Amino acid sequence: MLTVTDLDLFYGDAQALDHVSLTVEAGTTTAIVGANGAGKTSLIRTISGILKPGGGRIAFKGREIGGLPSHRVCDLGIGQVAEGRQIFPTLSVRENLEMGAVIPRARAAAKQSYDRVLALFPRLEERLTQAAGTLSGGEQQMLAIGRCLMGRPELIMFDEPSLGLSPAMVQELFRTIRNLAAEGMTIILVEQNVAASLKLAQRAYVLENGRIVLSGTGEALLADPAVKQAYLGL
Ligand code: ATP
Repeated sequence: MLTVTDLDLFYGDAQALDHVSLTVEAGTTTAIVGANGAGKTSLIRTISGILKPGGGRIAFKGREIGGLPSHRVCDLGIGQVAEGRQIFPTLSVRENLEMGAVIPRARAAAKQSYDRVLALFPRLEERLTQAAGTLSGGEQQMLAIGRCLMGRPELIMFDEPSLGLSPAMVQELFRTIRNLAAEGMTIILVEQNVAASLKLAQRAYVLENGRIVLSGTGEALLADPAVKQAYLGL
């Protein structure tokens, strides 16, 4: 579904991504693992069109999307749940969800999407008129995922979705991601809970200093001595 080939990204003179190549098959979960500053967020933001690639190609369903503006990428079916959640704090829960369906691909089916999101997150239904900024961290993360789903993505990219959540909420979050995967959603997951993300992932890539240094099935990377030592604290 997504093929990234020799992708480069620069911040001024500093190279943050160096010939990154990866493949994401439809209906699978792909984990991206790496230390702070390895380039995970840069990769997600380049795929989503927020950052402009310095070289290489990004093909989504056979179509080149590298360098397209982010609203176009979103309208082609790539959704992003950004680090830090990025909800609109002064808007209500309902308004935040409605904002997710403003892109052309999502408008006609907004009502069905809305019902689906509330079925997935009953807690949001109890808080529809509440300002989003007054929700708990876990609820805000649900809202961010719900808003992304309102855009009817075919591929969802999660950037550190568990950041700042309580252990119970982290479990709930992983349950949600597993449910989406079970429904056939294609997922890219960047997660500090490396073991949990590798368990979910059919395929995984390790980024170091902007380069892919290792890839394999989630299972293989879980068992890899270098991964165990660097990312699993074993
Ligand atoms: P983290 O988990 O800490 O977010 P990451 O793997 O997502 O790390 P990135 O945030 O993509 O890493 O950063 C990759 C590199 O690019 C780092 O060296 C970082 O300092 C640099 N970088 C990120 N954003 C900018 C920016 N706006 N301007 C300049 N350099 C940046």
